[in-house]
Amino acid sequence: MTDRRDFLKASLLGASAAALGGVLPTRASGAPLPLTAGMARVVSTWDFGVPANQAAWAVLSKGGKALDAVEAGVRIPEADLKNHSVGRAGYPDRDGHVSLDASIMNGDGSCGAVAALEHIAHPISVARRVMERTPHVLLVGEGALQFAIEQGFKKEELLTPESERAWKEWLKTARYEPSINNEVRDYGKTGLPGGPGNHDTIGMLAIDQHGQMAGACTTSGMAWKMRGRVGDSPIIGAGLFVDGDVGGATSTGVGEEVIRTVGSFLVVELMRQGRSPQEACKEAVMRIVRKRPEASKTLQVGFLALNKQGEVGAFALQHGFSYAVCDAKKQDGLLPAASVYTTSYT
Ligand code: ASP
Repeated sequence: MTDRRDFLKASLLGASAAALGGVLPTRASGAPLPLTAGMARVVSTWDFGVPANQAAWAVLSKGGKALDAVEAGVRIPEADLKNHSVGRAGYPDRDGHVSLDASIMNGDGSCGAVAALEHIAHPISVARRVMERTPHVLLVGEGALQFAIEQGFKKEELLTPESERAWKEWLKTARYEPSINNEVRDYGKTGLPGGPGNHDTIGMLAIDQHGQMAGACTTSGMAWKMRGRVGDSPIIGAGLFVDGDVGGATSTGVGEEVIRTVGSFLVVELMRQGRSPQEACKEAVMRIVRKRPEASKTLQVGFLALNKQGEVGAFALQHGFSYAVCDAKKQDGLLPAASVYTTSYT
C-alpha cells in the first residue's frame, strides 16, 4: 500500500538520486559504474556513511590500504555522539549497558571481531587487534574488554545522558519492538528518509588503488536488546564477508534474520557464481522473504556489496535504506537502495 507520504518520499529519493547521479557516473539502475584498474572506491551503509567514507577516502586517495581506510572510516560514526546506533552514545541494552559489536576483514581472509564489548569507544580497533595480535577471530564480553585494556584501550562510560534518558523513557513500556525506518533524520543536503529508529549499523567496504579489498562493520546493535545478545555485525559471514578474489558484502537491519541466512557470505558466494552485486544483494534479501514471508514484511534488512571490479549493489526488505559511495569522482554520494516492500513505516 502506498500513501501520499510514501509517494512524497519516493519522489524525494528519485530527485536525490538524479541529483547525485549527475555527478557520480551511474547505470540506469542508479548503481555507480565499475572502476577502471588502479582506482579506489569506498561504500558504506546509511547517511552516516557519507562522513565515514570521507575519512576512509583520506587514506585511499593517498594510496593507503583498504584495511586502514575502513578502520579509519567507521571510527567516525563510532565517535559521533548524535549517532545512537554505533559506538559511544549507542542506545543500551534493556538493563542500561552499552554493548558493542564489530568486525573487520581483509581480502586475504584474515579477520577479527568483538561482541558484547562494553566500555571501549572504538570496538573496530579492538577487532583489528584481535585479527593482528591473537590466534583467534572473535572475543566476547569480559574477555574482549580484558584484551582491549591489555592492548592499551581506555575503559570509559559510553552511556551518554541523552541515551540514558531515552532508555529511561523506554523503560516506561519496556516493549522490544525493532523499528523499520521510523525516524526521519537530518540528512543534510540529500534529504533522504530512513534513519536509526532503535538500531542501525555502519558496514563499510573498500577497494584500494592496489586492488586490495577490506571491510568493517560496527554497531551498538538493537536498542533495548537482552543483555548478552549478539547480532550479525561481529559474525564473519553474517554481517560482513570479504574475499579479495570476488568482493565483499555487509549488512544492516535485524541481525537475527541475517545470521539465519549467513547473509554476507551468501552475497559474496552469489557474486562468485557470476551475479552482479545488485543481483546478489537482491537474492540474499529474497532468501529472507522466502524463509520468513510474514516476518519479513515488518522488519528491515539491507545488504550492500562491492565486487573487485568496483561495482556496487544494494538491496533491502523495506524502502528507506540508503548507502554512501565515495571515489575520485565524488566524495559525498548517497544513494537510495531498491527494496522488496515500498510501504514506509513512519
Ligand atoms: N544488524 C544490527 C544488529 O542486529 C542492527 C542494524 O544494523 O540495524 O545488531
